[in-house]
Amino acid sequence: MDILSKIRAADLKGCGGAAYPTADKWQAVKDAFGPRKYVICNASEGEPMVFKDGYILKNWPAKVVDGIIVAIDFLKEHGVEVEGYIFINPEYAKKFGRFLANEIQKRNAPISLYVKPEEGGYICGEESAILNTIEGNKSEPRLRPPFPTQKGLWGEPTIINNVETFYHVAKIAEGTYETVRFYSVNGDCKNPGVYKHRADRTIKEIIAITKNWPKFDFFVQVGGGSAGEILNQHQLSATPTGAMSLTLYRTSEWTARELFRHWIGFFLIESCGQCVPCREGTYRLYETINVKNPDWKLFFDLLDDLSETSFCGLGLSVPTAIKSYIKNVLLNAELNIKDADKEKIKNLNFKI
Ligand code: SF4
Repeated sequence: MDILSKIRAADLKGCGGAAYPTADKWQAVKDAFGPRKYVICNASEGEPMVFKDGYILKNWPAKVVDGIIVAIDFLKEHGVEVEGYIFINPEYAKKFGRFLANEIQKRNAPISLYVKPEEGGYICGEESAILNTIEGNKSEPRLRPPFPTQKGLWGEPTIINNVETFYHVAKIAEGTYETVRFYSVNGDCKNPGVYKHRADRTIKEIIAITKNWPKFDFFVQVGGGSAGEILNQHQLSATPTGAMSLTLYRTSEWTARELFRHWIGFFLIESCGQCVPCREGTYRLYETINVKNPDWKLFFDLLDDLSETSFCGLGLSVPTAIKSYIKNVLLNAELNIKDADKEKIKNLNFKI
C-alpha cells in the first residue's frame, strides 16, 4: 500500500483544528502543477491553553522530522523539487530548535527552520499568514481561494500540516500508528498537562481518566482557550473537537463579564488589523464591556457583525465562546447561576 492509501486508511485528519482530511490535502498538492513544491510544518501553536504540539516537539522531534520527510518524498516525482520548512514560534525554537536541527542534519533533509517573528502574534500561525511571513510580506491572512494546495509558498503548491499531523504521518509510514490524539487538559483542575489517549474518547472520559473531574460545578471550553465552544458539565458526551484542548472553569469563580473580558482581550491583542470588522469590532467590544452598565444590544450587534463580515477565522470565531457560554451555562434553566448581568442579557432575546 502506498503512503497516501495508508494515510487514507488511517482516516488521519489535520490535528491543528480544522480537521481537514490529510490524504485529500496531499493528493491536491500532488495533482497541482508546479516545478517546485513545498511542505510546511506549522509549529507556531499559540492559542491559549493549547500545548500539545510543544509536548510532541519536546518528546518526539525525530518523528516530526520523519513525517515531513515522508511528505517531501511523496511529492517528489518527475523532477519536481521539494523543500520543507518548520515554521516555529520563538518559545519552541528556543526550547526545541536544536533538537529539530540535529534530526534534520542527521537525515541531511532539505528542511529549514523558520522562526516566527516575535511581533507576528497569534494570527501569524494561520496558514496563509505563514506563507506571507516566509515570503517577507506582512503577516496577515490571504484571500482564499486560491488555497495553498494550489498556490502556496512563492505561488507553488504547498502542503501545510501541523506538528501532531506529521507525528502521526511518521507513525503511519513506519507501521506503528495507533488511533490516538494528544489532549491539553488545563484550567481549574488538579492535574493539568498533555495526555495521549484513544481518539474516540469523550470529553467526559478524558477529564475523568486524567483524574481532573472536579468536586465543584464547572463548565468546559473545548478546542482552544479563546475560540473554543463552552459546554456545561452535563454536555460532555461528545468527542473533543478543534485543537483538542479542554479548559475547565469553576462556575462560581467566573462572572459573565470577567469571561467576556478574558476572551475578547485575547482577540483584541491578536487582531492583525487587516479588516475593519475585526480591527474595530474587537476594540469596540472591549470598550463596551468595560463600563459599569454595558450596552448589551450594541455588544451583541458587534458580535454578529464580526461573525458575518470578518476576513478570516480569528474574527469569525470571536462570538463562539461568548455565545455558547450564554446558551449552555448562563441561561441554562437547570443550572443555578447567580450573575448580575444574567437578567439583562436574558431580556435581550438575542439570537444564538
Ligand atoms: S479577521 Fe482579524 S485577524 Fe483576520 S484578517 Fe481580519 S483583522 Fe486580521
